This record gives sequence, structure tokens and C-alpha cells, in this order.
Amino acid sequence: MTGFRTFHDFIGLQSFLKEQVHTTTLGLVPTMGALHIGHISLIDRALEENDIVVVTIFVNPKQFNNPNDLKNYPRVPEKDLALLKVYDRVVVCMPSVDAVYPIDDPYKKVELGLLDKVLEGEFRPGHFDGVAHVVHNLMYFSGSSKAYFGLKDIQQLSVINYMVKSSGLSVEVVACETVRDEHGLALSSRNLLLNKTQHHEALIIHTTLNFVKSNIKSLGLKETLQQAKVLFNKGTLSLEYLEVVDRETFGPYKIGSTNNVCCISAFCENVRLIDNILLSIVVYLLYFSLKLTTPWIEKSCFQRLKSFSPLV
Ligand code: AMP
Repeated sequence: MTGFRTFHDFIGLQSFLKEQVHTTTLGLVPTMGALHIGHISLIDRALEENDIVVVTIFVNPKQFNNPNDLKNYPRVPEKDLALLKVYDRVVVCMPSVDAVYPIDDPYKKVELGLLDKVLEGEFRPGHFDGVAHVVHNLMYFSGSSKAYFGLKDIQQLSVINYMVKSSGLSVEVVACETVRDEHGLALSSRNLLLNKTQHHEALIIHTTLNFVKSNIKSLGLKETLQQAKVLFNKGTLSLEYLEVVDRETFGPYKIGSTNNVCCISAFCENVRLIDNILLSIVVYLLYFSLKLTTPWIEKSCFQRLKSFSPLV
């Protein structure tokens, strides 16, 4: 492959990929655009592990249960392309709705059970059906062998793992660490909709998650969540949910399990933000050992993005 390429449908993408006779591994990074360092960290990881990486930019109407949310979702395609064109092993696909959902649609609906009924599933009815559908089709049409997703959207990650197993796709799903700003706010395309004051106020999300992580062992689940909600309510955001669940099944918290995750959703005025924190000590230690070895990756992502986003 020589140089960055852009496609607007899968037919062009597929015939281009067929010509790449020396390509053995193809990674997929699905996004909805308005790219930030979180997305870039997924692309960098995919580039480390694959010959070619397909980045899709597609604001998926099927996963928005609220039409205003879909209308207001940030769209900055020129900035996204300017950011990606420095990569010579990245192929960008910005497909139309008809290309992603053709009449002859290959997706067979997967029943998501509990995953679709609690937390994000409860507050955004139909959202995960839309996510499972779009990710299935992006995997299917791109023909990727690995696909990269952020732990920032941990329930989405479980839905995708479940969908991939149920659909029999032979794609490896790779989970990537959440990237945060220097104050702890998880990077998100929706942060572009926050002003400077709101940006600062949104930090209560990370503070609350850290409180849960630090106290759940000594205070127990009920007392920790009660105190965490009191702490959260000292800020200006309005809480939608704060729960501790199993990170794979999204069933109830289990004392002593290494799979517990605390998830939060809150509104900063009309901007909906989600975040989570893994409660396992093992993951915590792994996170810090990774942090020791990756500062140069974060630094290089940061430098690349600095010129594009006023918020980093
Ligand atoms: P989106 O464009 O919001 O649909 O996100 C595309 C992918 O980027 C998803 O797999 C997200 O989980 C991932 N992602 C979004 N924000 C972050 C972040 N702060 N750190 C790591 N991954 C992220």
C-alpha cells in the first residue's frame, strides 16, 4: 500500500484491499468521527498489530434513540481526514447509510438479553440493537480479522463480543484502555459540545468513580453508592445512573470478583456523558505498568492532535 486512501462505499474499498497482495492482516477501527486521542490510540494499536487499518467514519442513525442527539452529534469530516492522512497504512471509509444497510442486508438480529435491558440498554432503548447491527456490517463488509474498541464504552464492548460470538464472525475483538485528559475526564467526541466551565464541572464524573473504587471494599456496595451519589450531587451535573455490575454479563456486582465495573451516565446540561472504572486490583496494577511503558505513545498522539483540537 502506498499512501492514505478514502472510500465512500465498500465496493471500492474491497477491490482496493484485494489489490494489496502483501497484506495478511487487516484491522478495523469503527468510529463516528470527530476524532480525538482516544480514537487515535485505537488506530495506533491497530497499526502495531496489522498491515492495513480500515478506519470507518459513520454516524449510525440506527443507534440514536433521540433524533435531537443524532442531529447535534458533532461532525467534522475535514478535520478528521486531515488528522488521518499522515498515516500511510490507514484506509478511511466514510460510507452512506445505503452502503452500510443494503437491501440484501447480511445481519441476522441477535437477541442481547440483559445487556440490552440495564444501564445504557435501559436508558437508550434500541441503541445496542443499532450498535450490534452496524458493527456486524462494518466487520462483514471490510473483511477485517481484528477490530478495536475502547473500554470507555464498556457495555458496548460486551454487546459486540456477544454479537460476534452469536453471529459466528471470525473477528478478534480487541479492548483498548480509556484515554483521559490530564484532569481525568474521559475523551469523547461529545466533549466538543461542552464549554470551558462545563468541561471543568464534568470532572465530578471521574471523582465519583474514583470514590467508588477506593471505598467499595471497606464500605460495601450499598453504602458506597449512597455516599458516591451525595458526592456527585455536590456538583452541577444530573445523574442518570451509577451502578456496579459484572463487566461481561452486566449482571449484579459480586463481592471478590475481578470482573466488577462501576458505570456512570450523567447530563452536563443537555450533553450526555458516560464513563466507567474497573474495580479489580489486578487490572489496576496492569494499568499502571502499562502507563509506565506507554507515555511516548500518549505524547506522540497528543502532539499530533494539538493542532486540530482546541480542547487538548
Ligand atoms: P465513537 O466515535 O464515539 O463511536 O467511538 C469509536 C471508538 O472509540 C469506540 O470503540 C469507543 O469506545 C472508542 N473511544 C471513544 N472514546 C475513547 C477514549 N476516551 N479512550 C479510548 N477509546 C475511546
